[in-house]
Amino acid sequence: MSIDFLKSLYYEVLSYFVPQKQNYKITGKCRKCGKCCKEIRAYGLKNEKNLQIMRFIFPWYRMFYITGRDNNNEIILSCKFLSSNGKCKIYPFRPLLCRNYPAKSINFNTEMIDGCGFEVVKKQFKDYL
Ligand code: SF4
Ligand code: SF4
Repeated sequence: MSIDFLKSLYYEVLSYFVPQKQNYKITGKCRKCGKCCKEIRAYGLKNEKNLQIMRFIFPWYRMFYITGRDNNNEIILSCKFLSSNGKCKIYPFRPLLCRNYPAKSINFNTEMIDGCGFEVVKKQFKDYL
């Protein structure tokens, strides 16, 4: 098991415990492009074996399948419930992970997808006042 994959597991677990009050904030609005359901970055995951382990530990990873690789040679995932018109096939029953997107805990240590209507902004001093 590679160090990157162990880090990925660590971040996944940590994301459930990271307090919402962090040094960045998420601003903006969803443009309903569906990109976050078909270009899911799996930081630290390099191959199918890594994904299988994630599926075993975190069952919601069973929704995802591999569609490609990014510049860091990490896998890109897509959700099997995304329809061809960019809509969620199980929208009323979608998991908490999707309902909360883009929660700060989910985006721990990450950035938004290119073209997303949301933006991760570093908090300024005045944000703490
Ligand atoms: S990528 Fe951003 S703008 Fe597009 S559907 Fe997801 S949250 Fe909305
Ligand atoms: S379940 Fe629906 S909202 Fe969640 S990732 Fe899949 S298509 Fe997107």
